[in-house]
Amino acid sequence: MTREAVRATAGKVLRSEDLVGDEKQAAAAILQANPHFGNPHVVRCGWCHQTKTLFRDEDEKPFKHIPHGWLCETCDLRASSQEVKF
Ligand SMILES: [Zn+2]
Repeated sequence: MTREAVRATAGKVLRSEDLVGDEKQAAAAILQANPHFGNPHVVRCGWCHQTKTLFRDEDEKPFKHIPHGWLCETCDLRASSQEVKF
């Protein structure tokens, strides 16, 4: 649940949407309270253009976590990832 809140805020930050009130500070506070989460990453496959916002221990189709990044299993290619910092 808290991760979902951070994920939603990360998406808005990336899309440069207007944030409501202290949304960004709230996301930063959640991450500070849960340092094991790490920052979310925007993972994108350059081939099929799938994009997801994932925490570093998460696998979500088509992305599979591998050391230092993610693999797009559909394309069998390493995805690019960008860390989102608050
Ligand atoms: Zn792909």
